[in-house]
Amino acid sequence: MISAAFDYIAPQSLDEAVRALAAHGEEAKLLAGGHSLLPLLKLRLANPKLLIDLTRIPGLGKISQEDDKIVVGALTTHYQIESSELLKAKCPLLPQTARTIGDVQVRNRGTIGGSLAHADPSADWPAAMLALGGELKLRGTKGERRIAAEEFFLGAMTTAIDATEILTEIYVPVSSRRCGSAYLKMAQQASGFAIVGVAVWLRLAQNGRCEEIGIGVTGLSDKPFRARTVEGQLRGNKLGPKLIEESASKVAEGSDPLEDLHASAKFRAHLAQVYTARAIQEAAKRASGRAR
Ligand SMILES: Cc1cc2nc3c(=O)[nH]c(=O)nc-3n(C[C@H](O)[C@H](O)[C@H](O)COP(=O)(O)OP(=O)(O)OC[C@H]3O[C@@H](n4cnc5c(N)ncnc54)[C@H](O)[C@@H]3O)c2cc1C
Repeated sequence: MISAAFDYIAPQSLDEAVRALAAHGEEAKLLAGGHSLLPLLKLRLANPKLLIDLTRIPGLGKISQEDDKIVVGALTTHYQIESSELLKAKCPLLPQTARTIGDVQVRNRGTIGGSLAHADPSADWPAAMLALGGELKLRGTKGERRIAAEEFFLGAMTTAIDATEILTEIYVPVSSRRCGSAYLKMAQQASGFAIVGVAVWLRLAQNGRCEEIGIGVTGLSDKPFRARTVEGQLRGNKLGPKLIEESASKVAEGSDPLEDLHASAKFRAHLAQVYTARAIQEAAKRASGRAR
């Protein structure tokens, strides 16, 4: 199908984009990589009067380090993240996640900001952002605000972004010595989207016990979430196989697993347990490797 007619602008600055968005509100849509928006336009599930193309705004596709934080611009593509030497050294969970997304064409065009703002319940980035305890920076006419990833995702395709705000950057902590991470998922064969995906980031103490841990789960229910019960059982303890298995068995507790043509609710819950246990093991192994 062909989309309904719309006007198109390509602002050259963030201020210009914010003003245009404020002037048109719900009648406007931001365009990043277009990988989710264009199908919606063609199916006429979205009929904006105006498309505001963010891709000409300088500086939104940058990856940098600010003290103990890594800053990733919203327009950064999955491929840029996958191939960033800075991220491989300072926040490997992001490249580990990026390389599982779709195929090379999708990774070359899709953006981290577009994916987070779109909030598909099967998207990969939410799991990594939750595990890292990341923050998202939003810019509107009233200025900027930062919001924790855990407060950002409200439900399927629903986030805390106001209709007049633009996601500009994400902030994640620098991973240093004794930190390890892993992202594991079962992918839908056609698209690569996660049937279930689990991201783990952890830091071991000098005595080998788990000092800090974040576990983000996507695909299991209509909203990505942080597996706080599992994290609580592991924090402060040695990560032996028995404890990992026992705690991972609680990952689906309190969630409402999705059921669709790809997987039953029971299978999804089972996958979540298996991937949680494996991702913790892999992250712990990498963390002990980094201690040397
Ligand atoms: C064939 C295919 C396979 C895919 N496989 C996977 C996969 O395996 N895993 C996965 O996670 N994803 C997958 N995706 C999704 C893809 O990787 C993109 O991340 C996703 O489509 C959105 O990013 P985009 O940059 O294209 O955003 P767009 O489509 O341009 O925008 C998406 C939505 O976000 C809004 N938006 C965009 N940028 C901003 C911003 N900065 N601030 C506020 N709102 C904004 C737009 O208005 C729109 O509503 C796949 C997509 C396709 C087409």
